Amino acid sequence: MCADHSQIYETDCCIAGGGPAGLMAALLLARSGVKVVVLEKHKDFLRDFRGDTIHPSTLELMHELGWLSEFLELPHQKVPQLAMQFGEARYQVVDFSHLSVKAPYIAMMPQWDFLNFLDNKAQAYSGYQLLQSTEALELLEKDGVVVGVKAMGPLGEVIVKAPLTLAADGRDSTLRQQSGLKVQDFGAPMDVLWFRLSRQVGDGDETFGRLEPGQILIMLNRGDYWQCAFVIPKGADADLRHLGLATFKQRLSPLLPFSVERLKEIENFDSVKTLQVQVNRMERWWKPGFLCIGDAAHAMSPVGGVGVNLAVQDAVAAAKELAMPLRDGVVSTEVLAAIEKRRAFPAKVTQKMQILVQNNLIKQALSSKAAVKPPLMVRLFDKIPLLRRIPARIIGLGIRPEHISEALIKGRDD
Ligand SMILES: Cc1cc2nc3c(=O)[nH]c(=O)nc-3n(C[C@H](O)[C@H](O)[C@H](O)COP(=O)(O)OP(=O)(O)OC[C@H]3O[C@@H](n4cnc5c(N)ncnc54)[C@H](O)[C@@H]3O)c2cc1C
Repeated sequence: MCADHSQIYETDCCIAGGGPAGLMAALLLARSGVKVVVLEKHKDFLRDFRGDTIHPSTLELMHELGWLSEFLELPHQKVPQLAMQFGEARYQVVDFSHLSVKAPYIAMMPQWDFLNFLDNKAQAYSGYQLLQSTEALELLEKDGVVVGVKAMGPLGEVIVKAPLTLAADGRDSTLRQQSGLKVQDFGAPMDVLWFRLSRQVGDGDETFGRLEPGQILIMLNRGDYWQCAFVIPKGADADLRHLGLATFKQRLSPLLPFSVERLKEIENFDSVKTLQVQVNRMERWWKPGFLCIGDAAHAMSPVGGVGVNLAVQDAVAAAKELAMPLRDGVVSTEVLAAIEKRRAFPAKVTQKMQILVQNNLIKQALSSKAAVKPPLMVRLFDKIPLLRRIPARIIGLGIRPEHISEALIKGRDD
């Protein structure tokens, strides 16, 4: 602590946000011998209904790091296929089981387990420091270069001085706003209400989405419960809550694959969480001494459940480029531009595909009064199993998948 009682840290890299992007970047940098301080505003990683979909691309990274078996000891459900239901007919659309990776499926795992795992691994490296209950508030700049962050922790003001600040503080990023860098918003026709229903004997085990006129329900198999996503028109949340729980349940009823009796488990709206869907991307992800990654750089639509995995991929790409310059204590703007160049393309292509699905399938289903017809693509995937490998590759591995390379050398503590 200094005379004015601020806590001051001097480090190689300050990371704001201990989500998937921030913790993966911190872990890989610390493993490569870089000193990092992570600022996380919450006191722990316990947040319900966040992205719980760990895709084959992320599982493959775990394998490359030598931690896959240990990781898969954590409770999870394997999702090797995805299906869609239109009326009473179910169509098989994605098959991950043929991907040439160690774990060809989505592992459904609570995000806090994933984050605790990354944090535990990172704690093994002496350069890693996580400050929880500490909110990044302000960028510190000198002569147009970001030189650190001012934050507020449980004991008061915290100053972190570093040649690079990574903003991994999510879709409502404070530091992005502080940076003055611009964000392009692409809009979304829907929001999502998340809630749980118990999974009972005879329910089946398939993760699927059901589209009916005016409504969509997605049900993710989470072992002893279903994680349900009720897709509603953008901004309809307040009206629906105003109409009351009975109306909400009435709307859900025709979409359920089991008796409506189970809706009694939803006792009030407190157990129904709203995800306000955003799709946006920064025009430029960096300025001298500063770089945004993950949702802070590009909030993804929930279509395909790829948000966590893109955030992790950004972290790997960033750590690969940054490890050596950060060890040397100087990060050029060319390096920051190269990271953006590498990751903006996958984010852009993935968002384009998500927007296509949002505008052509979801928007149509939500505004339709008549039965929703499965698009030709869905019918083709169902008829020709080989074709299901295409969406599996795009969703499961993503565009331009990252790997743990030589650039990410093991640190002295490994
Ligand atoms: C309700 C919901 C459901 C979702 N479902 C899915 C899904 O099924 N599949 C999927 O892949 N994605 C899903 N997502 C999106 C997914 O959670 C994100 O894409 C992913 O977590 C992005 O990771 P990130 O690390 O970039 O940001 P985040 O996960 O948002 O992490 C940001 C972190 O920064 C912290 N933070 C924020 N501001 C500050 C600050 N000023 N100072 C310090 N810390 C700060 C936050 O507490 C958080 O821990 C969902 C999101 C929500 C909200």
